[in-house]
Amino acid sequence: MPDGIVTHFDPEQRSFLDGHPRPDAVPLPQLEGVLSTSEADLAWAAEDFGRVVRHRPMAVMHAASRHDVAAIQRFARAHNLTVVPRAQGHSTNGQAQAPGGIVLDLNQLETIHHIADDRIVVDAGATWSKVVTAALARGATPPVLTDYLELSVGGTLSVGGLGGASHQHGAQTDNVLELEVVTSDGTLHKCSPTVDPDLFDAVRGGYGEHGVIVQATLRLIPAPTHTRTYRLRYRRLTDFLAMQRSLAVEQRFDYLEGQAKLEDDGNWTFVLEVAHFFTPPAQPDDTLLLAGLATAEIEVSDTTYWDFLNRIADDVALLRRIGPWQDPHPWNNLLVPDNAVEEIVTETLSEVDHEALGDTGLVLLYPIPRVRLRTPQLALPATPVIFLLAVLRTAPPNSPDILNRMIEHNLRAQALVTASGGTVYLRSPRTAGTTPTLL
Ligand SMILES: Cc1cc2nc3c(=O)[nH]c(=O)nc-3n(C[C@H](O)[C@H](O)[C@H](O)COP(=O)(O)OP(=O)(O)OC[C@H]3O[C@@H](n4cnc5c(N)ncnc54)[C@H](O)[C@@H]3O)c2cc1C
Repeated sequence: MPDGIVTHFDPEQRSFLDGHPRPDAVPLPQLEGVLSTSEADLAWAAEDFGRVVRHRPMAVMHAASRHDVAAIQRFARAHNLTVVPRAQGHSTNGQAQAPGGIVLDLNQLETIHHIADDRIVVDAGATWSKVVTAALARGATPPVLTDYLELSVGGTLSVGGLGGASHQHGAQTDNVLELEVVTSDGTLHKCSPTVDPDLFDAVRGGYGEHGVIVQATLRLIPAPTHTRTYRLRYRRLTDFLAMQRSLAVEQRFDYLEGQAKLEDDGNWTFVLEVAHFFTPPAQPDDTLLLAGLATAEIEVSDTTYWDFLNRIADDVALLRRIGPWQDPHPWNNLLVPDNAVEEIVTETLSEVDHEALGDTGLVLLYPIPRVRLRTPQLALPATPVIFLLAVLRTAPPNSPDILNRMIEHNLRAQALVTASGGTVYLRSPRTAGTTPTLL
């Protein structure tokens, strides 16, 4: 038996055992994948992209099929063990960790089963880059994509999945036609807006609490081949927000995001990032698209649609190579009501100087009309326009004081936002009650 692979469970000692079990140990069900307690697996499952929260599970189940997902759920239920699904582990606050339980690794479930012009059927462990590659080969695309494509389908459908096309198409969870879900009793269910809608509504944005998504049928729309991106810099937050607000409702662009940038002189400027998708010979009409947006500084760039979607891949490769990708990421994602956004952004940014932002810190700020976000589990402010404010920072390694300061700042911003009727995005029920432990 390879190191760390277990075959039995000892209900009395509440531990898994390898090939030399005690007589009263219970054998594991028939599995196509493996259940492991190897140090490497436990350490892997105790860590996520955030590197702020660490909880070791009792074991890691590397599922090789949906049968494994069902079998381990049934077994865990019979022995009162928690099962938490995990795919890419790009959570930043322990959302995919299972303290003392079983982490269910879904990365091997990544088959694309079927693709048509208007839909794609995929296993939940597939990454969005794999989905997009398959869809584009057919001239189609998912309507909404996150800024980073190496997240799993199941992982983003369990949180929402917001991006620059959300002002038109809502969250990724709003663009799902059907799901196949294994619930905690080990049974497989199909659900959709018309079949078992309660389960469909519970699992989308449900952080794996109401079942494990094993397969998804995702909506596709015709894909463009090219993108023209415009970046417009605003000096005043008020002007930037006013422009974003009207563009969100007007839907002039196919993509709408923005960033707050800390300038060398310590002042913040605001960069509106908008894009128009097209397929030559059609060309964007710059005059029409930019009407009324005049600012002194405009940058324009053309790329293929794929390069646009995959735009942060080079930066990620660099961060991996030079180190910060592996450092702690105390990220703060907030959904801010329109009527408090200016005050909250001003207050939040007033505490962020060059040291507090770090070399690789990023602040995203963009609007989404509330009416586009239809996923019941996604907790939203009540205003007609909602702003995503994401303060994405990296703390240097082995610097608990800096990390703690960033976490404390995040908690203050969260308190401010929730007191104004906003919500904290990416906070799962499992992690909601717990503030990240200061180190
Ligand atoms: C670099 C980066 C960029 C990002 N960009 C965006 C962005 O633009 N927009 C945005 O909205 N978010 C963004 N995120 C956040 C991201 O969408 C979430 O963290 C997402 O959950 C990550 O997917 P994952 O595969 O890593 O999930 P994991 O971290 O593995 O899991 C996340 C949650 O989903 C559950 N889960 C995972 N798979 C399943 C399944 N099959 N069935 C049921 N539950 C499951 C887990 O239990 C856990 O609660 C970004 C994160 C990073 C690190």
